[in-house]
Amino acid sequence: MPPIRDIPAFAEPVYVSKPVMPNLEDYVGGLTRVWESRWLSNSGNEHKKLEEQLLAYLQTPHLSIFNNGTTALTVAIHSLRLQGEVITTPFSFPATTHALAWNGIDPVFCDIDDSSMNIDPGRIEELITSRTTAILGVHVYGVPCEVEKIQAIADRHGLRVIYDAAHAFGVGIGETSIGNYGDISMFSFHPTKLFHSAEGGALTYRDENLRDRINLLRNFGIKNEHEVIMPGINGKMNELSALMGQHVLVLVDQEKAKRKKIREQYQSELKGVEGLRLQQRCSDVQTNDQYMVVRIDSDEFGVSRDKVYDVLREHNVYSRKYFYPLISDYPCYRQLATADPGNLPMAAKVSSQVLCLPCYGDLQCEDVSKICAIIKSSRD
Ligand SMILES: *Cc1c(COP(=O)(O)O)cnc(C)c1O
Repeated sequence: MPPIRDIPAFAEPVYVSKPVMPNLEDYVGGLTRVWESRWLSNSGNEHKKLEEQLLAYLQTPHLSIFNNGTTALTVAIHSLRLQGEVITTPFSFPATTHALAWNGIDPVFCDIDDSSMNIDPGRIEELITSRTTAILGVHVYGVPCEVEKIQAIADRHGLRVIYDAAHAFGVGIGETSIGNYGDISMFSFHPTKLFHSAEGGALTYRDENLRDRINLLRNFGIKNEHEVIMPGINGKMNELSALMGQHVLVLVDQEKAKRKKIREQYQSELKGVEGLRLQQRCSDVQTNDQYMVVRIDSDEFGVSRDKVYDVLREHNVYSRKYFYPLISDYPCYRQLATADPGNLPMAAKVSSQVLCLPCYGDLQCEDVSKICAIIKSSRD
């Protein structure tokens, strides 16, 4: 390895992700349709089309699109009339727990599994009380939760199951698309995600009876011109985003294939480096390579995750500490009994080790090599 001082910084910043951009002329062509229709929101043609296309792509019985994933998740929780306590993971993006808080629910933090970094099913049951109404899992980095075990626990205790599938667009277990597990799954279409609509999100669900309720909650609870029947919110996706989504959707498989190659290159260049742990793939899971995460054990590697992050930054590489800090360490949650670090030893360890590296289709092979060299040389 060259000494770190001999590796020049990137001339332009390299971010952790870059959104897929459709061909501009194609998008403008679609915009002409929107202009002529003079219909910009409230279930227009583009909205209908995107919902149909996503329904086919995600292979779930029902799907409702939203203006973002956070509103969608908040509505999902509300639609199931959850109350009391919900068991969830502290190793996620803030929105996961915030969506519970906005529903007046007390989050209960459960430790995570060392290998999958998802909620540990072996630790869920001890957290169930008479107030528990659901389990909210997150398929972190697109790696599925242990869905069968979680469902069995939920069935034994009469609980609902919701998944934050914001990282899991296009993921499947065997032949089953990830959106078919639990009662409801939420997808985010933020530009940092594999599939996006500038901003957007969706809920997928199997129970047809949820459909009217979710769609009413998405639109202020307005049933018709004379009746507003529940305290809904504004969760509607506008036509410009719905059009964007259609144009990005056709590029998703290609982007996924490119990211797979990039991940494989990272894996091969970083393999065997002492103190670096790469994510293992399960054979029956179709992943989406939305993120390239590496775990750094400071004792074995020689320097800490934070040091590697700083050295990358000095070289104009913007890696991200997803997810640090833990949600249970935020001032708004740390007073909760289950936020005690003693309850979450694995989450604390993982959160201090993880680093997400740049991973997007346009990233060049030589850039990946250089990023790997910087990481390996950061011990100098
Ligand atoms: C991105 C993300 C969200 C939020 O989605 P938005 O569409 O940005 O509201 C929620 N949970 C996780 C795990 C995410 O990564």
